[in-house]
Amino acid sequence: MKPLPYEFDALKPVISRQAMELHWGKHYGGYVYKLNEIIAQYPLLSDFSLEELILDAVPNSPLYNNAAQVWNHEFFFEQLTPESRGGIIRYEVPKLFDALNCSLSGGINRFKELFMESANDLFGSGWVWLVLNKVGILNIFSGQDANNFLKNGYRPLMCFDVWEHAYYLDYQNRRKLYVEDLWNIIDWKVIEKRYEKCI
Ligand code: MN
Repeated sequence: MKPLPYEFDALKPVISRQAMELHWGKHYGGYVYKLNEIIAQYPLLSDFSLEELILDAVPNSPLYNNAAQVWNHEFFFEQLTPESRGGIIRYEVPKLFDALNCSLSGGINRFKELFMESANDLFGSGWVWLVLNKVGILNIFSGQDANNFLKNGYRPLMCFDVWEHAYYLDYQNRRKLYVEDLWNIIDWKVIEKRYEKCI
């Protein structure tokens, strides 16, 4: 398991210590455990990277679901910080800022609205993604369950976990409030670094 880059209570009040301990220790930890169980049954799988397992596995198979959930959670936890300034500020993340303004009609403000709508409208459990496509355009996608956007040449830049286990303890049914608050603990510098690696 990858350790968190911050303390369990660092992100409160958006994510409480108890919610983070459960999310990291029991949910993410559970996927790591199950993935290792599958690999133990099929030792050849241990020659593959996590990305290769996701790309090669049959979608929705136990191997795909657990590998994707491990990857998604590590990607999700890495992009959070208690030091976020909330918004996407041009002098902090100039390349991301300009790319969002060029890719989406309505620019940076519309981006937040679209992302929030995707998170709120996703039926059931799943993930919302900011991804870069092969020709350099940013887009927002969402998908259910262990959906992962390492496919068709897309490169993920950011993801929001909208499984109920991510917010129910702190927010109960109020997913909308959770995603609004989550926006304020995003480490946009991490997203900018991911973007820079792709261009
Ligand atoms: Mn989760």
